[in-house]
Amino acid sequence: EPTDVAEMLDEVVDRFSVQMLQRQIDIRVEVDHALGVMMLDRDRIDQVLDNLVSNAVKYTGEGGSISLRAAVQDAKWVEVTVQDNGIGIPKKDLNRIFDRFYRVDKARSRSMGGTGLGLSIAREIVKAHGGTIMLESELNQGTKVVFTLPYQMEENAAV
Ligand code: ATP
Ligand code: MG
Repeated sequence: EPTDVAEMLDEVVDRFSVQMLQRQIDIRVEVDHALGVMMLDRDRIDQVLDNLVSNAVKYTGEGGSISLRAAVQDAKWVEVTVQDNGIGIPKKDLNRIFDRFYRVDKARSRSMGGTGLGLSIAREIVKAHGGTIMLESELNQGTKVVFTLPYQMEENAAV
């Protein structure tokens, strides 16, 4: 459906605002001006965003910050970045992070709740929409997840 990307990101932030306020986590949203309304499978993309932002919130300490950005690449792709300055992921775990049920270590994950499905579902959805997803992380520094989706201006879309 036709979706205003800036509005969509603001709504994600709203869904986590209480949690973030409680933990004094600051979030910044930046949206490329070139990005207006685009055709999106809204429910699915919200699911991806909720998974990524919930991870950023869960795995970022009190007083941390999260940034949520959307930009157009080559007029062909929309690139969405969710970045945090949280606990990060050890190098040895990075290649399994998108596996179903994979969680980094039970000790740190136990208290947080969750099943280890969030990232694998996010990847499935992004792939099903013809996009890509990748994650970069540095232990104790933070994590950045970038996903892309084919960008189609609403004017050109068959509505
Ligand atoms: P679920 O998403 O099902 O509630 P989960 O968050 O544990 O559970 P995933 O979202 O798939 O599962 O993430 C897998 C693991 O990757 C997490 O358990 C966590 O250890 C690590 N991880 C994911 N995102 C981050 C992040 N932003 N910072 C640090 N570690 C992360
Ligand atoms: Mg998760």
